[in-house]
Amino acid sequence: MSPDKDRSLIARQHVQVINNWGLHARPSAAIASVAAKYPDCEITLHSDNNMSASALSVASLLMLEAVKGSMIEVEAHGSENAVNAVNDVVEIIQGGFDEEHRVLKGEGINCGIAIGLAHVLLNEPVDIPHYSITKAKIANERKRLSTARAEIKSEFAKLGNNEEDPQFSEFRQLLMMMLSEECFSKTPSALIRQELVNAEWALKISVDKFTEKFAERSSLIWQSRIDEYNLILKRMIDAMTTDSSKCSSKAKSTHIIITSNIGPAEVIEYHRAGYIGVISSGGSKNSHAAIVARSMGIPSILAIDELNLECIKEDTLLAIDSNTGELHIQPTKETVAELRLKAQTDKPTSRRTLRAGKPPRSLSRDGERIYINANIDFMAEIEAAQNIGAEGVGLFRTEFMFLGKETPPSEDEQFEIYSEVIKKFAPLPITFRTVDIGSDKQAAGLDASASSMGMRAIRYSLANPLMFKQQLRALIRASLLGKIFILLPMVTQEQELTLAHRLLKEAAHELDMKDTKLPDLGVMIEIPGVAYILDSLSKQCEFFSVGTNDLLQYTLAVDRNNSQLIQLSNPCHPGFLALLGQIIRTAVKIKKQITVCGELAADPIMVRFMLALGVRSLSMNPLHIENIRDNLREFRIFSHQQLALELTKCRSSEQAVELLDKFK
Ligand code: PEP
Ligand code: MG
Repeated sequence: MSPDKDRSLIARQHVQVINNWGLHARPSAAIASVAAKYPDCEITLHSDNNMSASALSVASLLMLEAVKGSMIEVEAHGSENAVNAVNDVVEIIQGGFDEEHRVLKGEGINCGIAIGLAHVLLNEPVDIPHYSITKAKIANERKRLSTARAEIKSEFAKLGNNEEDPQFSEFRQLLMMMLSEECFSKTPSALIRQELVNAEWALKISVDKFTEKFAERSSLIWQSRIDEYNLILKRMIDAMTTDSSKCSSKAKSTHIIITSNIGPAEVIEYHRAGYIGVISSGGSKNSHAAIVARSMGIPSILAIDELNLECIKEDTLLAIDSNTGELHIQPTKETVAELRLKAQTDKPTSRRTLRAGKPPRSLSRDGERIYINANIDFMAEIEAAQNIGAEGVGLFRTEFMFLGKETPPSEDEQFEIYSEVIKKFAPLPITFRTVDIGSDKQAAGLDASASSMGMRAIRYSLANPLMFKQQLRALIRASLLGKIFILLPMVTQEQELTLAHRLLKEAAHELDMKDTKLPDLGVMIEIPGVAYILDSLSKQCEFFSVGTNDLLQYTLAVDRNNSQLIQLSNPCHPGFLALLGQIIRTAVKIKKQITVCGELAADPIMVRFMLALGVRSLSMNPLHIENIRDNLREFRIFSHQQLALELTKCRSSEQAVELLDKFK
């Protein structure tokens, strides 16, 4: 008790802890900040297990181990403010720390609603590198440690104070406080010298030692404290290495996964394990993880800040509305009922509309014929594509046959899959894209580059001719069963086409089918530079297909998996629109068939713009087909041609948005 505080005035009140997780770190920080507003009072909390704590100290409040239902006596000594101080502390405890219904916003993948319990994979143990170092490396390791710490500090600082979400701001402040503790700086730095180990390992030992004392206690409060220290540990390790934590697969059909960065392979894994939804801090609407989740029909929301997700505990009730991008944490009964109703009336179109027979012909309002095809990633989507009346498969992503498998599929296994698709769709055409492996699509047994600009897609296939010819042989054999095309991903130059033709011929020769008519080859336009060599490429291919997802990422240098760059991934960028115009107009001029198969093919306004420039063939997730077909039925292509040309010459995104509005 400081001498300047008046002990004569005393106020007391009892209050029950009502929030689910009791006085864990965040509520304790909230109490401490209320207490700090009364410097002339000494506020103490007494728990029903005979513990006492100063309201100003987060650490001693945690020691109370007050769980849901605990009775607390709040006592204040001091000035005439003592009564107000007690009232304020009691009020915040009675308020339950707003832990009830919260809504977070991210990038919804537009594929329905899921209601379930959280399965949190954010703090899965990280694979921490451990090796010995020489004395000469001590300084280097210390530098790595301090750089990682500075990086995380500035990351927390950049998140700023969020006035709309005070809980988030408190939590951020708490993490900043924790980061300044010695277990993240002085102790590991000393351990690097004493133990002669790398920085990651020194950090792990230091944090483990520090949190050991919490682990001895059984209450949830201490567990959440350990989680918070481990969150910082994981972030610092991530900053020092490029590895992200891998998920465990604790299958629960009632659960929704909460994770950090995910790729398509993880989505497949979650789907197989039976999870009903996915929430991730990483990714974007155009990432492969989103594409796969949509294809598999798993309601998902990506790009929600990880610190916000950290507030969610295992088994918390969640509701995902992937159409609005809203994640409801501990939704009220009314919200759950509302979302259940919405889920029934709002079923994705492909599940709603079941039609048999020939696909309908799509015509624009002014009578132009448009071909609407399906993108297929998994066999399970075929039925949906047929039911909705797809006129063929414009993009079959064959790499998904390789993902989530221990060994790559053999020629015969591939042939079986291709045959099944062809037979199911016969007599409609199927465009099989050769494996687009690499970047975020990594397959066991294949050593493709993890960089989106590295040894991947057609580059990888050409560098591994045995594997490539195996796929080509399976495709040639399947071509006897129906009409198929072969599409090559990420082509950058003519030589790649020459080589692909040569390998296709060799594959036919190996099958003793050299006199068979081989499937036509097509080129995916995904690299900006290719827009200017279409004429020469066209001499060696029969059609083009625009992959707008990659075209956008490479044109604007925006990694499509990076949730922090979502604002920059802007298809209204004048440079991107000009490039798209250049590609489509060139294809029309040289009379080469052109399809658009990236996610923009499902964007009603961008589709109108591309049709006005000359596109007549689209390929998209079956979920969007009905919407796009309805949309173009209302559109007059020829009266918008001038506007489309203007759009390819606009000077700013703002102007582009204004012009695009006129396509509505
Ligand atoms: C694209 O890049 O637009 C595309 C269709 O291919 P993927 O999404 O598989 O990279
Ligand atoms: Mg692509």
